[in-house]
Amino acid sequence: MTFSQRNYFEIAIEKQAPATITKASFPLRYGSYSEIKTTDFEFRFNLNGEIKFIRGLNLNWPHPAEQLKRTDGNDWLYNSVGDDSSEDGVISWTGEYYLPCLPYPSNAVWEINYFSNPNIMNAFAAWSQLYADLYSSRGEGLHARARHLINLILENDDRVLHDRSRALRAIIGGRLSVLPPDTRHVDYEIIPLVIADGCLYHCEFCCVKSKNWFRKRDRADIREQVRQLKIFYGRNIENYSALFLGNHDALAAGKELVCFAAAEAADAFEFQKTRTGSPYLYLFGSVASLLNADHGLFNTLNKLPFYTYINIGFESLDASTLKVIGKPVEAEMVQEAFQKMLDVNSSHANIEITGNFLMGEQLSSKHYESLIDLLGASPSSPKGKGTIYLSPLKDNPKKRELLPRFLEIKENSQLPTYIYLIQRL
Ligand code: SF4
Repeated sequence: MTFSQRNYFEIAIEKQAPATITKASFPLRYGSYSEIKTTDFEFRFNLNGEIKFIRGLNLNWPHPAEQLKRTDGNDWLYNSVGDDSSEDGVISWTGEYYLPCLPYPSNAVWEINYFSNPNIMNAFAAWSQLYADLYSSRGEGLHARARHLINLILENDDRVLHDRSRALRAIIGGRLSVLPPDTRHVDYEIIPLVIADGCLYHCEFCCVKSKNWFRKRDRADIREQVRQLKIFYGRNIENYSALFLGNHDALAAGKELVCFAAAEAADAFEFQKTRTGSPYLYLFGSVASLLNADHGLFNTLNKLPFYTYINIGFESLDASTLKVIGKPVEAEMVQEAFQKMLDVNSSHANIEITGNFLMGEQLSSKHYESLIDLLGASPSSPKGKGTIYLSPLKDNPKKRELLPRFLEIKENSQLPTYIYLIQRL
């Protein structure tokens, strides 16, 4: 349903795009959303009336497929197509047709500072102007549905959106410092549910770890999070098809807690209602938690109503590198865990384990040689399972110079290989 308002803007209420995200070189559109178009910008809102995307429509906008996106953590990201939008560009580095440019420090190999581009920054001024115009019109003379949408948007001003991101953190017990790289498949749109805090290793190189040592949450805590999350997401919950079980090593929480949390969330959030395929379950694991996980865990996960991604931090296969980065595991354990990843991927249709390795100017040639040997000798998976993510060290001095190194590893790898961008919620 589309309405025009005195030629200033056009409103489309609850448009329906496919729930499943298609990897394509045009701007992402998924789920149910409302849209307001002015002459120069397109604003998209979720089912709660919260601003979600802004895209420029005139020739000053850098690229028609680029857009600003606001996360549930209230960060504004800029999805760029980079400086090479061919199949050799962004898609070959990240597996996606866009590059999320973040407003906070991360480990990106590219530096795109969208804050310095006035054409992009104009979008925020246009958003403020639209808000003021909506406020002064309050939808007078419009259809009741358009008026309702405008009231919802007006209720969600910048202060409210900021407070909501804090409320989300309060429900799950803190900000999530990193999302699994596999959440790119759902444009990082996940519902977080924390089942354990801290991690087993406290590696020296790691920039996302918390102060805490590993500790599971109890069932009552998980149930309460689910209850509050359902209220928090409100009507817009139907736009989510993915659950992230946090935090840094949910796999170490064990079969019972993982399956309990997944079942509680699947039931409460009704993921299957709006999707044709399986919803997604994401979690992180470690070398130790993968080695300790028995077949019972994978067999049970395989039967859940989810397609499950487990992302493991391997970091390196070289003993001297593991020492330099301060990761307290043996190289043999990494090798064994990597083999287990391949075995689980080939024996469980609904589970995909993926792995992370480090990249950085500071790392020795032994690290790269052992990595190229490992990935070159791995049996390729018929379904492209077992993606390897190469994570640049955060303080790497020369960022973009890592790309040729990445491409060399990728070309020699039998497994899909991409760059890992640390993104928070
Ligand atoms: S890399 Fe993983 S295990 Fe190591 S400190 Fe960071 S979160 Fe913990």
